Amino acid sequence: MIDLHCHLDLYSNPGRIVDECVRRELYVLSVTNTPSAWAATNRLSMRHKRIKTALGLHPVLAKERISELPLFDKLINETRYIGEIGLDGSKECKEYWHEQTKVFTHILSMCQRSSDKKIISIHSRNASKEVLDGLEIFSRAGKFILHWYSGSLAQLKRAIDLDCWFSINPMMLKSAKGRKLAKMMPANKVLLESDGPFTQQKGIPLKPWDTDIVLNQLSEIWYISSIEAGRRVMSNFRELLK
Ligand code: MN
Repeated sequence: MIDLHCHLDLYSNPGRIVDECVRRELYVLSVTNTPSAWAATNRLSMRHKRIKTALGLHPVLAKERISELPLFDKLINETRYIGEIGLDGSKECKEYWHEQTKVFTHILSMCQRSSDKKIISIHSRNASKEVLDGLEIFSRAGKFILHWYSGSLAQLKRAIDLDCWFSINPMMLKSAKGRKLAKMMPANKVLLESDGPFTQQKGIPLKPWDTDIVLNQLSEIWYISSIEAGRRVMSNFRELLK
């Protein structure tokens, strides 16, 4: 199975999580929140071909880490995978909206200039319109995966028109709104994520293999068995990598 948005480096025991992912033959997109975290996070899993480490600069850290953009540029050719990047329109993050847009725009323009087609995991909490405005401008930056999409239905339609992918985690489908959004997402664009260790169940951080929970939830939305849902998601994943 797959987990296309997971913070492996932020678990208290990353080595053991990596070992278990390998044992279970999971495909994992290990995202990072700062360019300075990339090298050590990449070392955690570089021997394992199913785990890829993405280079990112999280919008919530945009002000604090904008000075790491030159390091981002230096590392961009080391990997095809970018994330976590994006914008966050929450009240406490609006204060440094200027830095957020500067970081986001810079990264998208760098991706657009790079020779390979990047696969990009994107955060859009309370900022789906502004994120999509950016993706529209830099539409050739790569393949976009909207991680934990929670915007409006109108913006979701725009995202679909922009050919976005969607990674869904178990928390998203707990609310009626989340299920409604998931139902509207094209089934051939749906991927799975855990967003661990930020997501929890009964106080315990979700692990990459807990994306199995999403398959059960998707089987209800798609009116198919969870095995069939799993096949669909794996075929989407293979398509993404093309
Ligand atoms: Mn995340």
